[in-house]
Amino acid sequence: MPKSRAVCLLPLALLAATAAAQTAPGPSTSIFGYTDFTQQAKWDAAFLQVPDAKLAGQHLKILTAEPHWASSPEDYKTALYVADKFKAAGLQVEIVPYSVLLNKPIKIFVEAFDSKGLKLMSGPTPEHVDPKLYGGDAFQNDPRVLPAFNGYSPSGDVTAEVVYANYGTLADFKQLASLGLSVKDKIVLVRYGANFRGVKAYIAQQQGAKGMLIYSDPADDGYSKGDAYPRGPYRPPSAVQRGSAQFLPLYSGDPQTPGIASTPELPASQRTTDPARMNIPTIPVNPLSYQDAAPILQALSGANTPTGWQGGLPFAYHLGGDPAAKVTVHMHLEQDYKLRTIWDVIGTIPGTDPAQSADWVVAGNHRDAWVYGAVDPNSGTAAMLETVHGLGDLLKQGWKPKRSIKICSWDAEEEGLLGSTEWVEAHAVDLRQAVAYFNTDVGVAGPDFDASAVPSLKQFVRDLTKEVASPKGGTVYDQWKKQQDEDIRRRPNRNPSPAVTDVRIGDLGSGSDFTPFLQHAGVPSTDIGSGGPYGVYHSVFDNYNWFIRNADPTFVYEQQQARVFGLEILHMANADILPYDYKLYGTEVVGYVQAAQRRATTAGLSLNFTAAATAADRFSRAGRDIYTRQTVFDTSAAHTPGPSASYAPLNKALRGAETALLSDAGLPHRAWYKHVIYDPGEYTGYAAVVIPGVTEGIDAADAPRTQAQLDDLATALNRAAAILEAAAE
Ligand SMILES: [Zn+2]
Repeated sequence: MPKSRAVCLLPLALLAATAAAQTAPGPSTSIFGYTDFTQQAKWDAAFLQVPDAKLAGQHLKILTAEPHWASSPEDYKTALYVADKFKAAGLQVEIVPYSVLLNKPIKIFVEAFDSKGLKLMSGPTPEHVDPKLYGGDAFQNDPRVLPAFNGYSPSGDVTAEVVYANYGTLADFKQLASLGLSVKDKIVLVRYGANFRGVKAYIAQQQGAKGMLIYSDPADDGYSKGDAYPRGPYRPPSAVQRGSAQFLPLYSGDPQTPGIASTPELPASQRTTDPARMNIPTIPVNPLSYQDAAPILQALSGANTPTGWQGGLPFAYHLGGDPAAKVTVHMHLEQDYKLRTIWDVIGTIPGTDPAQSADWVVAGNHRDAWVYGAVDPNSGTAAMLETVHGLGDLLKQGWKPKRSIKICSWDAEEEGLLGSTEWVEAHAVDLRQAVAYFNTDVGVAGPDFDASAVPSLKQFVRDLTKEVASPKGGTVYDQWKKQQDEDIRRRPNRNPSPAVTDVRIGDLGSGSDFTPFLQHAGVPSTDIGSGGPYGVYHSVFDNYNWFIRNADPTFVYEQQQARVFGLEILHMANADILPYDYKLYGTEVVGYVQAAQRRATTAGLSLNFTAAATAADRFSRAGRDIYTRQTVFDTSAAHTPGPSASYAPLNKALRGAETALLSDAGLPHRAWYKHVIYDPGEYTGYAAVVIPGVTEGIDAADAPRTQAQLDDLATALNRAAAILEAAAE
């Protein structure tokens, strides 16, 4: 980012005066969920003063000083740092260990040959940039940097012919097959992007591939987008995207303990030890830089690639499969697999209202990184520590949260959401009363705020962004809306629903720690952060040097992030009536069912949608009615605020409706995922597939399975509607 984009934050009053066209930051007089917002507005104002840009920068520098892969001694040091800051703010702190299966690379070796046996490459090349270029990079030569590898790849020594499969999506593999090219017994070369890397491996393995290499194409996050690091923010030639190859859409967490917490005391007999029954690949998988992938790609002959498969390297891409000119790859991977200790840091502020202190507000981010992890994840951790700084100051001023607050620093997220998943599995019963999980991960990669959430919390997020000043002027909300409006103007057909005039908030798929909370335990969740051009994801170059050159040189977006994250916690901890919007939830669900019905018709499947459509309508009606009831409560009680216990039945129903959307049986062949509305897609991984049981049944053209899922959906929606109806009377 050019330096001019990072403007020092002006005092709020001055900011309001100088930015006439924009809204002055501040709470509106009535906030959904509060019978009287006056007192809360004062606490908000006191809180917003505290998060400090400079301090956030210091946290970031310390947290990213050393490579701190999960379970390493350096990772433990960061746990102690976070625990100290929590303690200093007055939180009760525990460091919670789990014992989980992790692979550490011992030797990673890849070489390629043409049909005449001529060596095309051997590597991987260590990640480096020229020290003469723009000052180079101070972090690249640390001996503790692990060789670039994929989490949960097995060890293996395989040699096979190479086939190029674009992004390795299900559609890409189908297209290859339709061109008569089999990946059976081949090593598949794919590029990063479009789906989660574990899904690429999942499909390749299903299709009988012998191994997989995943590289970063310059078209996706390299020079085709802009200048490469250190000149700009994009991926330099040798930079590798590490990452987990876990089959996350089956379940997240420790591969050996789905559904149970892998505490250090867990007996070995309770662990699954057969890799074929776990959520991990059985074929070797490794990442490559484009510097190492280019000679392989360039040597491939065979058919030209289909439209859209050509990447950004300066030659025409081919698929391979030419018997006269085979390109052969040899992968030799040695992984040290064992149970390793990871550490979650949990800070608690006990709730003070006896009627509500068992209702947890949980907020978290992970701390482990593939290497230094400046953006991913410690931009989020640095901001979270400034949020905690603010909560600590409020405690000293006499603030009392009604509900209990848990601030969580997760470990081993990168391997497959391990720290959060094990903790969720350990607290399954308590979490039935958790009123929200607020996630952040890539807290700051640039200046553009964005959020994803369950529908019931979308308005909640919009509301509180109106209280926080943006370094660009006006409020975070103003800038967010401006950014999205520009986007819609630039690419109108990517935003097919002009009816939505407010800022759009995405659906939660997966790829971060909200997954176990929402999709396994049914806790309403959000995920926030601010983005920008970021091409060094999961490489050695995601470090402090990159961060201060590209993301947030003066840490004002760190401060913004700390403020927004903090208001989420404050507003949820003390709301009289839980600020869930089931009106919108209902509307969205009705839309999903209608879309699925159209999809089924197009696919020529004969299905009965009556029960699901009726249940969706009922859920929608109940959502409208409960929303009215919440509003009446808000305004009528404003004059005579009652004791919090009087809202308890309503709150219990509001919370219970989300749990009612969990199905006991879970999704077909991935029963750990229980939410009937939102889960990661089996073949997407990151992106949410809505009403996934039904949608994926249609995609698989499996009418009996889809019909059973429609019935499951109807049951869940009726169950949720009944809870809301009883409370709306
Ligand atoms: Zn992350």
